[in-house]
Amino acid sequence: MGLFDKFEKNAALYNQLSAIGKNPFTVVMEEVLGPTRAKIKGRETVLAGTHNYLGQTFERSAIEAAKQALDHEGTGTTGSRVANGTFSGHTKLESDLANFLGMDQCIVFSTGYAANLGAIAGFVDRVQDVVLIDADCHACIYDGCQLSGAETIRFRHNDPENLDKRLSRLDPKYNGKLVCIEGMYSMYGDVAPVKEFVEVAHKHGAHLLVDEAHSFGVYGETGKGVCEADGVMDSVDFYTGTFSKSLAAIGGFLASNHPEAEYLRFSSNPYRFTASPSPATIASANAALANISENPVFREKLWENANRLHAALTQFGLRLAAKPGPVISVLLPTKEDAFAAWDFLLEHGVYVNMAIPPGTPGKESLLRLAVSSAHSADDIDRLVSAYEAMAEAFPSARVTSDA
Ligand code: PMP
Repeated sequence: MGLFDKFEKNAALYNQLSAIGKNPFTVVMEEVLGPTRAKIKGRETVLAGTHNYLGQTFERSAIEAAKQALDHEGTGTTGSRVANGTFSGHTKLESDLANFLGMDQCIVFSTGYAANLGAIAGFVDRVQDVVLIDADCHACIYDGCQLSGAETIRFRHNDPENLDKRLSRLDPKYNGKLVCIEGMYSMYGDVAPVKEFVEVAHKHGAHLLVDEAHSFGVYGETGKGVCEADGVMDSVDFYTGTFSKSLAAIGGFLASNHPEAEYLRFSSNPYRFTASPSPATIASANAALANISENPVFREKLWENANRLHAALTQFGLRLAAKPGPVISVLLPTKEDAFAAWDFLLEHGVYVNMAIPPGTPGKESLLRLAVSSAHSADDIDRLVSAYEAMAEAFPSARVTSDA
C-alpha cells in the first residue's frame, strides 16, 4: 500500500509480457561468446541490441590495457575526481579526447548520464538562466534540467525553426540560455541538423550542448560525430559523449573550447560527489579511442553492415524509422505486436531491443537493431533471415499493411 501502489501498472505489464513470451527487460547474457554473440536461454544468439557500434568489447589492445591497469592500479579508485579519484589515466584520457576532437579541454565523468546531468545542472542557474531542449532528448538531459531547477522549455524535435520561435519569445529577464540536442537520436536513429541549430542558438546569444553519445566514433569523416559531419566542431559550445557505446567501456565526458567549462569540476555535483571510473575502465576506453581514431576500418565496416541491413529490411517491406545508420528501428503499431515480434526474433536466435511508450518519442512501439562493425557476414545473414521471417509473420510491421 502507499509507496508501492505505483508499481501495480508495471506488474500488469510484466504479466502481459510473460503471457506473450519472454520478458525483454530481464534478458540475461548467460555466457558472452564474443562482441556479437552470447548465450541467452541456453541458445547461442546474435546480439543486435547492444551499442557496441565499433565492436571494441573484445579488442586485444583494450583488454590488455585494462589488465595492466588492474595489475598496477587496482580494482577501483574508491573516490571522486575532486578527492582521491583522479589517476594519471583519467587526465591522459581527457587530453587524448580533447586532441581527438580538436577541442581545448575535456572533463571525464563516471557515466554519460552523469556528464549531461552534471553539465546542465552545473552550468544553468535556477533563477537567472533557462534551458531549451529538443523534445526527444534522452532522460539524462531531462533529469539535468530538473536538477538545475531552472525553467525548461521543450522545442519540436529536430526543428531549428521552432527553437528560433521559442528563443525569440523568451522573457528578456533570462541571463544565460542553454540549448540541448543530440547528434543522433537512439530510438529512431535520426540525425539532428546541428549546423542550423548552432546558427539559431548563437543568433539569440544562447550556448549549444550536443550530446553525441550515439554518434561519437560513427559519424563524420574521422568519427568525431554529427558535429564533424556538419562542419561545426569549432562552433558547438559543449560536446558530451559516453564511453559505453563506441568505446565499449563505461564513463562519459564533456569537451569544450570555453575555458570557463573547467569550473564545472568545482560546481557540478554529478562530477564531484561520485566515484571516478576504475583504472581498468579508463585504460580500456583510452585504448579503444586510440584504436578507432587510428583505424577507419571499424567505421567503414559499421556503415557497410548498416547499409546492407537497412536495404534488406526495406526490401522485406518493414516500416523503418530513419535512413541507414547504426540504429535501424522497425515501427510497430501496438505494444503487444512489439512484444510478440521481439520474442519471435529471439526464438530465431536474434536479440534486439524492444522499446515502448513512454520510452519512445511518439506513440509507437519499436524494435531497435543496433549494428556493429563486428557483425560478421554470418551474423548479418542470420539477422537478415530472422527479419525476413518476422516480416512474413507480422504484417503489422510492414509498410504495405497500412494500405
Ligand atoms: N545520452 C544518450 C543519448 C544516451 O542514449 C545515453 C545512454 N543510452 C546516455 C546519454 C548515457 O550514457 P551512459 O550509458 O554512459 O550513462
